Parts: sequence; structure tokens; C-alpha cells
Amino acid sequence: MVDATDLADREITRERLDQASSSQFAAQGSCLKEARSLLQRLWGYEDFRPLQEQVIQALLDGRESVVVLPTGGGKSLCYQVPALLKSGLAIVVSPLISLMFDQVSSLQEVGVAAAAIHSGLSNQERQLIAGQIRSGELRLLYLSPERLMTDRMLGFLEQVPLSMVAIDEAHCISDWGHDFRPEYRMLSGLKDRFPQLPIHAFTATATQEVRQDIARQLGLANPQFHVGSFDRPNLIYRVLPREDRDQQVISTIRRHPGESGVVYCLRRKDVDDVTMMLKQAGFRALPYHAGLPDEERHANQHAFLNDHVEIIVATVAFGMGIDKSDVRFVIHTGAPKSLEAYQQESGRAGRDGLDAECWLFYAQGDSALWRSLQANLPEEAQQTAQQVLAGMEGFCQSTKCRHRAIVEYFGQAGESGKCGACDICLGELTEVEDSLVVSQKILSCVVRVEQSFGADHVCKVLVGSRAKNILNRGHDKLSTFGLLKGVDLKVLRHWIEQLISQGFLERYGEYSLLRVTPAGRLVLKGVQSPRLLVANSTSFRQTGIAQVAWAGVDRELFEELRDLRRQLAAERGVPPFIIFGDAPLREMASVRPLSTTSFRQIRGIGDKKTSLYGEVFVAVISRYCHERNLAGDQFALRDQSQNSPPATVDQSPPIKREPGEIQKRAYELFSSGQELEAVAKVLERSRSTVAQYLEEYILDRGLQDGRPWVEKNEFSQIEVAFEPEDNRRLKPAFDRLNGQVSYEKLRVVRACLQNRGHWPM
Ligand code: ADP
Ligand code: ZN
Repeated sequence: MVDATDLADREITRERLDQASSSQFAAQGSCLKEARSLLQRLWGYEDFRPLQEQVIQALLDGRESVVVLPTGGGKSLCYQVPALLKSGLAIVVSPLISLMFDQVSSLQEVGVAAAAIHSGLSNQERQLIAGQIRSGELRLLYLSPERLMTDRMLGFLEQVPLSMVAIDEAHCISDWGHDFRPEYRMLSGLKDRFPQLPIHAFTATATQEVRQDIARQLGLANPQFHVGSFDRPNLIYRVLPREDRDQQVISTIRRHPGESGVVYCLRRKDVDDVTMMLKQAGFRALPYHAGLPDEERHANQHAFLNDHVEIIVATVAFGMGIDKSDVRFVIHTGAPKSLEAYQQESGRAGRDGLDAECWLFYAQGDSALWRSLQANLPEEAQQTAQQVLAGMEGFCQSTKCRHRAIVEYFGQAGESGKCGACDICLGELTEVEDSLVVSQKILSCVVRVEQSFGADHVCKVLVGSRAKNILNRGHDKLSTFGLLKGVDLKVLRHWIEQLISQGFLERYGEYSLLRVTPAGRLVLKGVQSPRLLVANSTSFRQTGIAQVAWAGVDRELFEELRDLRRQLAAERGVPPFIIFGDAPLREMASVRPLSTTSFRQIRGIGDKKTSLYGEVFVAVISRYCHERNLAGDQFALRDQSQNSPPATVDQSPPIKREPGEIQKRAYELFSSGQELEAVAKVLERSRSTVAQYLEEYILDRGLQDGRPWVEKNEFSQIEVAFEPEDNRRLKPAFDRLNGQVSYEKLRVVRACLQNRGHWPM
């Protein structure tokens, strides 16, 4: 992992850092200032997120702390930045080699001297690291808990000036959580060996018990608790009944051509089946589950992390240790056993803060499967398991905003109002017209069968089934028999679940019989009104989040830059996301920097990355612009249209962002039928910029006809040059037309074709 020559040219030595932080004992304010300046210089980010700032202050002050931030919340910087500003070596405890490897590579990529000691190192490599520790060059040392807690390591570290211990995935110390690791318990002994050394614990796990347990187990002295919001505004949640699994999975993947995603299955067999199915359908997919030989599992994980395949199909075994930042979708082909598990698994999407989709396809049978797996648990554990399972079922059936439901489950107040990023708020589920009457019919049927039957039976009575067990009990004589004749049984079942999740019905007893709650009685009296929904899953629109995140991004250039990133990553032996995340890549594809100076201004790119990659990227971008007669260095556009990075969710929630003023004026001019050239003149913008506006305008309005920008005959000519497998790329069509048609016209036609459904969205 750590190569001597590599370290020598990459590291930031203590001396250089000291130039940045003139004194360890500077006033607090100026410490934060130095922290910010490091952030800008090394990482190329403008500022800390609010909670990061608090945490960094606490770490600089040596206040022990427990930090809870969701995946993608930016935990690593919270300890990495202070580690560079404080004197002494920072120890980072991490459970898995793969996690250490990614962190160390990322640090080295921005020019920080960091290393990990693990079983895979040669003696010589170990010696090299030890030397760097003694000389004070190394700033962060990553260790597993079991390695740190050996007498030998502790003895060695006692002779070295240390700044702090940061414990990553700290919830592993608690057996209250779902990821308990006995090795983590050994960390309880840290305080005995290093009573003065501040310890900071980091986790994404939410529950209060776990947080307290972490502090207790580690023996933290009066720790500060920093708890961030559990909402992940960039994730778009959709929860649908599973109907045709394979079809549902395929059409979801088609929304993400060329992008990375995870498909979770409940059972190994499903993993194998789905992988096979996807391969046959022409996708690059690999399986991952605990039943595969170690080697194959590792190879498959490696292929996914390094973008050799787009899709990994997995059981829950695939998870911790994956910090690939550009996972653009997570599909669940069945409901997990708890909402906590769902949050963790779906949370692997969009760590980079960019839009990502989380689709959950559930069925009644999922819960039954979990119950059967939990049947052997001790009584108490079984009860808890069933409780959390019920929480998951409630989530599936609920008509509440998904973001809000998740946040509230973890005990935080959810935002009221529409999130713009879930099926409920996007209106993809429509309300049944006479919800109240339908609900009353269902509830009174439950009463008529004397609250002694389960959902299946109630449904059968309502649709007027002549099944034996209905007739035998004389339930065909009930006044509610056949009241909802013609309604699909599945839909009816769904409504019953909705009534349960809204608290109007409840299940009781061993056989899950239905009864009406006091709130349900109010419905029968017409005092309260439930909302019943049906999924109109025919069209899942592109959400505002995705539109904004892609606004102005030249997808074709983005793809070219992605190829370049993949190539560089292979040369350097690191996963592509370590080189750049998707966020800087999208910004490059929108701004098109033409010099290393402007390259450095892309958010998320610091000094080191500019010197390592600036020239190659600028070369590709310049050629691209030249070939298409496009202007570069469009910073004004970036800053004017969105005051904040085009795609991250840091500053302002992207959902609320509107097209900029100029863009709106362009739209007006287009709608009055103005030509591109004329609009460019009026707005004093380059043709290429205006061509982008035009494409967005056509997409926004759903236009399917290219006039007046492309005449009918020409449109037909261009249309045939676009092949669906081009993935919206312009270049193949450009080539097929022998370079005779401008990219501007190609864009117009592409947008119209997209609106006609030529490509899956
Ligand atoms: P976590 O460990 O909490 O899951 P990471 O530390 O991996 O999160 O950070 C998630 C993403 O957010 C990374 O791509 C990181 O570079 C980015 N990030 C972190 N802090 C900032 C910041 N202040 N501004 C912009 N991006 C940031
Ligand atoms: Zn919502």
C-alpha cells in the first residue's frame, strides 16, 4: 500500500505544514481560519459545512467528542484537517483494510503524508513508516483496533508525540447497534494507556443508545455530542410494490446508462438469479454474497470500485468498506429487516452529494421471510426484531414523505412541506378520489367480520369472493360483501396497509388479525379522513434535483472526462473516485476550464491535484472545445446561475434553485421563436452557452419538434443518426453525419428525441 518513492514525492512534511499553521497556540478564531485555508489549498473546497466547523473547533480545542453524521456528511475532513494543524501524530482507527486504503490514497492524492499499517505490508514498508513516524513526517496513521491495541504497538506509540485518536465507524464498539465488532471493545483500554490523549468517535449510526454507549465504552471525559441531520436531500426515494421484479430492475437501471449502482437482494439465490438476468439483458453486473469464495468476492468488489462493471448485485454482506462516492442508484428488490438497515444500504448512494436514486420494490412476502429467519432468536431479541420489522413495513405502506419518515424514525424533526425528492412529494402516487368512502367500506367490513380475521380474508369479502372459507362462514351474507367488487386484490391489500400505517387499523395477536382503532372509529363517523394512494408508475419524471445537478453539464464531455479519469486511475492503481469525485467532474464539463489556473478554480480541486492532473484534463477539454467550436472558462455562468456548486447540496438545497435570470430570458426568447444567433446577441452570451440553454428549454417544455431551430427534413436526417446505444452521446451521430451537421443542431434533435422517449430517462 505505501510505496517509499511515492511517499517521498507526495507528502506534505511537517515543515511545510508549519508554514501554513504558524503556531499551534494561536487564538481559536485564527485556528479555524487556518483550517479553512488548508481546506481551500489542499482540498479545493470553499468552506466547511456548519457542523464540520463545530467539530473541527472541538478537536482543535482538544475537547473529546462523539460525532454523528450520515454517510456522505463529511466526517473524514473533521479529523483530517485538525490532524494537520495539531502537533504530533494522529491515530485513526478503522475496521477494514479497504476503508483505510481509500482514505490513505485520498490523503496522498491531496498531498498529505498518511499511511496504514496492516497485515499486507512487508517488513521493509513497515520500517519505512516507523521511520516517518519517528521523524515526525507522517501526519495520520491508520490502524485496525486489534493492531493498535497490541502491546508492541502501544509501546511504540508511547514514545511518539501524539495529537489525538479518531475512531471511525465507532458504533462497532456497541452491541446495541447492528455492527458490533468485538475487536472494537479492546479500545476501552486506550484511556489507561494514554490518559491525556483526546479521543474522538465518529459514526453514521443514529440511535441515542449507541451514542451514549460509545462514550461510556471509551471512557470519554465529558464529551461533546455533535449530531447532524439524518436527512440526505440528494437521495430520491421511491417505494413501490414489487410486481415484475426483473422488469422493474431493468427499467430502473436503464435510467442510469453507464452509471454505478447496487442492486440489493434478500437471498443469495436472488443475487445469482438477478445477476444472470442482467447479464443476459446485456448489462455488466457481478454478484456479491457471503456464499462466494473470498477471492471471487474480492475480485467482484474490486471490479465495481474501479468501474470495470457498473452494477453489483448483492446481499447485505456488501456494505461496510464501500465508500465509492459515485454510486448513482441503489435498488432493493425486497424490503430489508429494518428502516435502519434500509437507511444504511440506500445511503451508499450519492456520497458525493450529487443526485442519486433509491428504489425499493417490496412485497408482503418479504416480512414473512424475515420472520422465518428470526424464528430461532431468543424471545426478547425476536420481539425487538419484529418491532423494527413493523417499522419497515409501515415505511413501505406509508403515505408520508419518505425523507420525513426516515428522519422522524431516528428521532429528529422532519421538515413539513414537499421535499421534491420522493415518490410521495413528487406526486407519483395519486390519491384515490373517494378515499373516505373507500376507507369506510374497508373499516366496516373489518367490524362486520367481528375483528376476527386477517387482511386476506377481509379483502376477499370486500371483492365478493366465493371462496370456500367465505361461504362456509356465511360471509357472503354480510352487508359489506362485494362492496369493492372489481378492485384489484393487490391494490386493496395496499390500501389496508395504508390504513394500518396511518393508524386507523391495527394488527393484533399471533395471527395478525385486523381491528379498528379509536381513530378508525372516527373515520367510520366521517370525522377523520384517510388518504389512500395508488401508484401511477407509468412515468417517473426526472426530479428537480437531478435537473439542477445536471444543468449546464455537457454530458458528452462529462463522459470523455470520465474515461480519462478511469485511465489515470488504472495507471495509478487507485479507484477512479479517489482521483476526482463526480461533482468536480460535472463542474469541469460545465465550466470547461482551458488553463491549469482555471482548472484550479473547480470546486473540490486543490493544489496537488492541479499539478498532478491539470494539464491532461485541460488538454482534453481544449480539444473538445476546439472541435465543437465551444467557448471555455464559463465561470460567470456557474456563478451567476447558481451561486453555489452546480451539484452539491452544501450551500442551498438544489431543489429550490431556479434557472438564473439570463436563462429565463433566453427561455422567453425561445418561446417567441427566436433563432439561436439572435438570442445570443440579445443576451450577450456565446452561441455555445445559448445552445445549452436551448437544449434545457426543449427538455423543460417537453418539445418534440425541433422547429424553428432545425427544419423538418434536416430533423429526420439527423434523427436516424442517433442510435439508442449511443447513450445520448453526440459524437457518434456527428461522425455518422460526416461532421456536416453542427453540434448545436444535434443538441436540439437530441433533446426532442429524449422527450419522445428515444432514450430511457
Ligand atoms: P462520510 O465519511 O461522512 O461518509 P466523507 O468524508 O467521505 O463523508 O465526505 C463525503 C463527500 O463530501 C466527499 O466527497 C467529500 O470530499 C465531500 N466534502 C466533505 N466536506 C466538504 C466541504 N466542506 N465542502 C464540499 N465537499 C465536502
Ligand atoms: Zn418527500
